[in-house]
Amino acid sequence: MYAASFLSLKENIINNDLCTSCSLCVAACPKELLSMSHDAVPLPLFQEHITAAADVCGDCRLCSDICPGYDTGTSESELRIFGRNRTEKERWVGIHQSVHQLAAIDPAIINKVAAGGAGTILAITALEEKLVDAMIVVGRDEASPWIPKAYITDSIEKVIECAQSSYCITPNLELLKDPRYNKIGIIGMPCQIQGVNKLLNLKHCPEAASLAEKVVFTLELGCASSTSLEGTEHLITSILNVKLEDVAYMRYRDGEYPGKFVIRTKEGTEHALPFYRLVEEFKKYKTFRCLSCPDWWSGIADISIADGDPNIFDSSKTERNTKPTSTVMVRTQIGQRLIQHAQQRSYIELYPYYFENNLGLERKRQRYRSYVAAGHRVIPLPSGVDADYTQILSDDEVIRNGIGDEKAHQHK
Ligand SMILES: Cc1cc2nc3c(=O)[nH]c(=O)nc-3n(C[C@H](O)[C@H](O)[C@H](O)COP(=O)(O)OP(=O)(O)OC[C@H]3O[C@@H](n4cnc5c(N)ncnc54)[C@H](O)[C@@H]3O)c2cc1C
Ligand code: SF4
Ligand code: SF4
Ligand code: SF4
Repeated sequence: MYAASFLSLKENIINNDLCTSCSLCVAACPKELLSMSHDAVPLPLFQEHITAAADVCGDCRLCSDICPGYDTGTSESELRIFGRNRTEKERWVGIHQSVHQLAAIDPAIINKVAAGGAGTILAITALEEKLVDAMIVVGRDEASPWIPKAYITDSIEKVIECAQSSYCITPNLELLKDPRYNKIGIIGMPCQIQGVNKLLNLKHCPEAASLAEKVVFTLELGCASSTSLEGTEHLITSILNVKLEDVAYMRYRDGEYPGKFVIRTKEGTEHALPFYRLVEEFKKYKTFRCLSCPDWWSGIADISIADGDPNIFDSSKTERNTKPTSTVMVRTQIGQRLIQHAQQRSYIELYPYYFENNLGLERKRQRYRSYVAAGHRVIPLPSGVDADYTQILSDDEVIRNGIGDEKAHQHK
């Protein structure tokens, strides 16, 4: 439990480098006292002078209560959603009903997406079935196309335009406030989904209810780690030698699976980097919160999504030609309904799958172990009980050793 006022959020989360930049606190503040900064790693800003926080906020501590930065709230969320907590075996994948490999059928969609198109096609299905009146997605800033930006939209075209992964920290949850929409679907990172679920846990509280009632479902992406905007700018200016103001188009995973980092200039020249080079370069642009993150999937989204290919770093390096699919882990009834609607519309092909591991998950697991073992800074709480650690590998060792993915490829 935190003390009241924004000071608590500032001292416990922001000053400890635990903010994930989700921007949920901005959406939830009943007094509209917060906004996000426009830094490479955006942080909440208090609109009044900070010394006035105790007076202005009074007894309120909503921003601290819903913040996923230190306490992801997973235990309470699981009890609300599933009526139980995850077992030790489920520590890293969470409670689920089924796992599949999914591929969108429409080639026009497959050509735009990161993997099998689960994020895009399920968002389209939800809009067409009128389960939601808008989706929160992440695309590009229209004026500065190298900057990832979140949108809330009821347009199928916009959802398709926002397909693919944005490997850049992008605040999105402040969009929940948009007064035009009352039934919203969210695609987000595990930390963002944890924040949303902390909000849903407080649905009975009058200050949280109106925002919480808007959330219809959540889809999450598996997340090895995200990157500050400086990482993207570094790729463009230092590696590809292009000026930011000359960029007309940018995607992190353009073209044939697994995709390349691609930019096009205003003059029409295209520059590309293989995906594995992006992973290597981005290592220098991680936040403490991402490096010490306790989860690869939150396990409390309605559906969790990852690449169907368990080691896309290796696929990119060896240019292995894999059929693009997404791994989807279905956790709830609404998640199941969404999959059924997409099947009835003949939008997707589904294949049975047994999820074993993923390079990103293994990197995360080992990193979290090393942060626990180091024990010298406050790190986010684990979402469940971790097994005893007998071996801690460095990030480079995990990438070098892989995860025995030849075995995982046999499932295709
Ligand atoms: C930072 C990051 C780290 C990842 N790490 C891994 C990993 O370790 N292993 C793994 O298997 N997969 C990882 N993924 C997921 C993977 O890159 C694909 O996004 C996932 O497989 C979905 O592909 P798709 O074709 O199903 O989705 P698509 O149909 O391409 O749709 C993706 C959806 O996600 C939304 N989106 C993209 N980026 C963001 C973002 N930053 N914040 C919020 N929403 C976003 C888009 O708006 C789009 O709607 C990561 C993704 C990100 C963004
Ligand atoms: S949510 Fe409450 S405590 Fe946080 S800034 Fe707003 S008024 Fe202050
Ligand atoms: S709610 Fe999100 S943006 Fe606000 S402090 Fe917490 S992690 Fe940061
Ligand atoms: S690594 Fe963790 S904190 Fe960073 S974006 Fe991914 S889920 Fe959020």
